[in-house]
Amino acid sequence: MDQIISVTVARERILERFDCLPSEKVHITEALGRVLASDILAPHDLPLFPNSAMDGYAVNASDVSDTPTTLKVIGDIRAGQQPALTVTSGTAARIMTGAPIPRGADAVVPVELTDDKLSVSGSTVPSQVSIDGSVHLGAYIRRKGDDIRAGERVLVSGRKLTPVAIGVLAALGISLVNVACKPKVAILATGDELVDIDSILGPGQIRNSNSYSLISLVRDAGGEALNLKVAQDTVESVQSKLKLAVEHGVDLILTSAGVSVGAKDVVRMVIDQAGELVFWKVNMSPGKPLVFGQYDDTPLLGLPGNPVSSIIAFEVFARPSILKLAGHANLQRTTLPVRLLDSVETDGRETYFRAVVARDPNSDEFVARSAGGQGSHMMQTLVQANALVIIPAGREHVHSGEVLYAWMLSQVYGVL
Ligand code: AMP
Ligand code: MG
Repeated sequence: MDQIISVTVARERILERFDCLPSEKVHITEALGRVLASDILAPHDLPLFPNSAMDGYAVNASDVSDTPTTLKVIGDIRAGQQPALTVTSGTAARIMTGAPIPRGADAVVPVELTDDKLSVSGSTVPSQVSIDGSVHLGAYIRRKGDDIRAGERVLVSGRKLTPVAIGVLAALGISLVNVACKPKVAILATGDELVDIDSILGPGQIRNSNSYSLISLVRDAGGEALNLKVAQDTVESVQSKLKLAVEHGVDLILTSAGVSVGAKDVVRMVIDQAGELVFWKVNMSPGKPLVFGQYDDTPLLGLPGNPVSSIIAFEVFARPSILKLAGHANLQRTTLPVRLLDSVETDGRETYFRAVVARDPNSDEFVARSAGGQGSHMMQTLVQANALVIIPAGREHVHSGEVLYAWMLSQVYGVL
């Protein structure tokens, strides 16, 4: 149990404990960021009917192969109306974008290619129109089903619903969707030195910042956070808080601090004695003291106390766990190959190096520069970083110019 394990093994052991939660039906207005639990098949074609891609004139393409030519205007078709007229040779119907193509027409001439340049909604329809440019058969007609075919799988299960996906669901008339339930995650900070953010600090006390970053990380990953606030460094205090988490039926408990080798590191003791300790200590930097186990059947990840360590350990282990519970098919951050512009020394552990990644305008490749000091208490460097460059275990000297992989935490910057 005391053995130090690799990040890969630790992540496998953790992830195998989680499955996708059962699903629930939600309205699409509440579905942003949720994960589909079943595929979406199109109930009908989109577009539903052939319609005009432009404001212009619905014509027979064969009438406008030789231009200029003049056609008799037989009507005006607005969006939202089913046209009764039929376009025959020598005639045209004025038509608006999105309006149904009338019988007999097989092309649309944009208004810009006619002498009706001022044609606007509501203006009187001319009795004839001069066509100045020819269009081919089918021009500017959006065919029925050319976007989505009835029965087509438009969205797959495991996919996070984006604003665009929600728009597609609305266009298809699907108001309720089956999504995985939101993972419930309890957050417990531990430490006698901690006070809440609005309190006056006594000597040696610090503010509890981890609860706030972890709650935000949980929400950002699509989970629902239960704030258990702070436990003292005693077995009783930690246990009473963990019992609360179990009563709430959370899917995962995250604790911070108390997992190292200090005399007051009670989280590990509680799990060891009253739960199941799967492992502690992972060969990574920052974040080596990490406990994974169960408290009364509820999975528990004991994150380190140092603010940066707790956030990075969350990234590496808790985020993919929450994503898996929430039904995501992809548990990974966007990963890019980056050329390091600094040399880096490590102590041989798998290192998550806080970096700023940008695109180099000269070489057009991604480059990474250190975001600053890498101490596990240095939050300012993590706030400046947009990426974590992963230095594999055993690599004690990484030279400037080497290419490594980086997890993108936020957008790539344009320039450094
Ligand atoms: P520990 O794991 O208890 O040895 O804590 C490691 C370091 O993290 C110490 O400097 C703690 O003061 C600090 N720390 C622990 N919990 C928090 C917290 N909730 N917010 C900010 N810093 C913390
Ligand atoms: Mg402590």
